[in-house]
Amino acid sequence: MKVVVADNFEAGALKLLEATGAQIVHKPESLEAELADAKMLVVRSATRVTEELLSIAPNLKVVARAGVGLDNVDQDACKKRGIEVMNTPSASTNAVAEFALALILGASRNVPRAHHSMKQGKWEKKVLAGSEVEGRTLGIIGCGRIGSLLAEKARALGMEVLGYNPPPRHDSPHIKYVELDELFGSSDIISLHVPSTPETNGMINKGTISKMKDGAILINTARGSIVEEDALYGACKSGKIRAAALDVFPSEPYSGKLLELENVFCTPHIAASTAQAQERIGELIAQKISSLMSCGE
Ligand code: NAD
Repeated sequence: MKVVVADNFEAGALKLLEATGAQIVHKPESLEAELADAKMLVVRSATRVTEELLSIAPNLKVVARAGVGLDNVDQDACKKRGIEVMNTPSASTNAVAEFALALILGASRNVPRAHHSMKQGKWEKKVLAGSEVEGRTLGIIGCGRIGSLLAEKARALGMEVLGYNPPPRHDSPHIKYVELDELFGSSDIISLHVPSTPETNGMINKGTISKMKDGAILINTARGSIVEEDALYGACKSGKIRAAALDVFPSEPYSGKLLELENVFCTPHIAASTAQAQERIGELIAQKISSLMSCGE
C-alpha cells in the first residue's frame, strides 16, 4: 500500500509510518506522479486538498490531516469520491493546554517582557513586578478537549476556574460553568479555546472587552479570527487589557500592529509543536494505515 506524505513530517513520526510496512513517500518532487497509485494522502496545512488534486488520485481511500483544522481539505469533494477524511485533534491537546498555561504564567509574571528588557541592557525590577496566579480567576471560553484539560492544570495551581460553553457541559469537575457576561466580569485571565465559527469569529471585540475587568489578561491559542485586532490593539494600548499573549493571528505569518505593543506577547503558532504531539500524530496515522492494510487495501 502506498502512502504519500505531502508536507513536512517529523522524522520520528515518519519512522512510525514506515514501521507499518506500507510504502511511504515523503515530500515527493512530483505530488501528481506519486498520487496516481496512492491509497492514502497525509497532509499538514501546506498542501491544499482540492477536487482537482483528488482527480489525479483515482485510488485514494483516505486523506489524513496531521493536526486539527480541516480548512485545507475540501471535505465535500472527498465525500463525493467516498474518500475518508481523518484528522488527529486529540494528539495536540496536552501540548496546547500546557502552552496556554505557559502563556498565563509568562504574561502574569512579565517573563517575555523581562527577557526582552534585559537583552536591551536594562535592569527593570520595579516595572516588571507581576501577579501570582494562585487564587486568581481563570475564565475559559470553550471547554472541550483543550479548555477542560487547561482547567485541570489551572486548578492544580490553585486558580478558580470559570467556563463558558454552549450547549452547557457539565463533564469537568474543575470548572464552574457560568454565562458569558459573568465570565467576562469575573475573570482575571481569559483563555480562548473555541473553534473558528461564524458565532466565535470576532467574539472578543470592543463590546465584550468593555465587560472585562480592568487589567484583565487575554490568552489566545485558538484562532486569530476570534479576536478583533483593532479592539485588542486599543484595549492593550489603553491598559484596559493589561497583557495579551497570542499564538494565533488574523493572518499568518503575522506582521501587524499588535507587534508594536510591549504588553502583547506573540509566538508563531507553536502551541501544538512538541515532539510528543508529533509522535502521537504519527501513532494515530500509523494505526489508520495498519487498519487499511489489514482490510487488504
Ligand atoms: P474541541 O472541539 O474539543 O473544543 C471546542 C469547544 O468549544 C467545544 O466544547 C464547543 O462546544 C465549544 N464551543 C463552540 N462554539 C462555542 C461558543 N460560541 N462559545 C463557547 N464555546 C463554544 O476543540 P479543542 O481540541 O479543544 O481545540 C480548541 C481550539 O484550539 C480550536 O480553535 C483549535 O483550532 C485550536 N487549536 C490551536 C492549536 C495551536 O497550535 N495554537 C492547536 C490545536 C488546536
